Amino acid sequence: PRKQLIVVTPTYGRPLQAYFLNRLGHVLRLVPPPLLWIVVETNPASMETAEILRKTGVMYRHLVCARNSTNVKDRGVHQRNTALEHIERHRLDGVVYFADDDNIYSLELFQSLREISRFGTWPVAMLAHSKNKAILEGPVCNGSQVIGWHTNEKSKRLRRFHVDMAGFAFNSTILWDPKRWRRPTSVPIRQLDIVKEGFQETTFIEQVVEDESQMEGIPPGCSRIMNWHLHLEARHFVYPRGWLLQKNLDVV
Ligand code: UDP
Repeated sequence: PRKQLIVVTPTYGRPLQAYFLNRLGHVLRLVPPPLLWIVVETNPASMETAEILRKTGVMYRHLVCARNSTNVKDRGVHQRNTALEHIERHRLDGVVYFADDDNIYSLELFQSLREISRFGTWPVAMLAHSKNKAILEGPVCNGSQVIGWHTNEKSKRLRRFHVDMAGFAFNSTILWDPKRWRRPTSVPIRQLDIVKEGFQETTFIEQVVEDESQMEGIPPGCSRIMNWHLHLEARHFVYPRGWLLQKNLDVV
């Protein structure tokens, strides 16, 4: 039997939301089942999101997180935690992957996720409109052994693991079975909301693995780009007068 993939997506209402959710939904639709898409909004859940999810034909759960972050840098943190609590409480067995709604994903990525036994990581290409090149972040590997990290920005040298939020996935049983996986801590694994910018991923991963020896670089050699992290700030777009939509359009 194929391993279940549990794809966690925090999302919120903004002009590009319907476009992002439809795009991601269509990719997930092409992934062979079993796949569960956990989409988390902050209160209140929107009808538009519910409608898009219903139409994609992907197995999904639409969750609502009561807490919203007061810090703009902690985008999606409480929503991902809501999903983690849900997975843990219901013992949902599978490979957990945090897939933000705005990134670009290849089908190959989802195939590779099924190869993960404990914790898998791979390089992600970051595309930002302020820079005219793609920046790589993630592991350098010898076969599937992680032997180093791609990193570019000086301040980021202090991070323990140089992994993008979209560049790792893990076996859900790690959440409720710390002994079996020799987890560094037995307290519940959660994203933290008071973390310096750029450290969100590493503080999370430090709760899941002790070091690189507990990681698997995928695919072997880590030499392929399977997804792209897009940094498009919708609010910086210049729209013709009268063209800016503050809210979602109804999707019919
Ligand atoms: N997000 C959210 N609420 C917010 C801001 C962001 O649910 O107030 C979600 C967003 O839809 C995306 C993820 O959190 O799925 C990451 O957000 P963003 O791409 O803005 O962060 P970046 O990757 O640029 O740091």
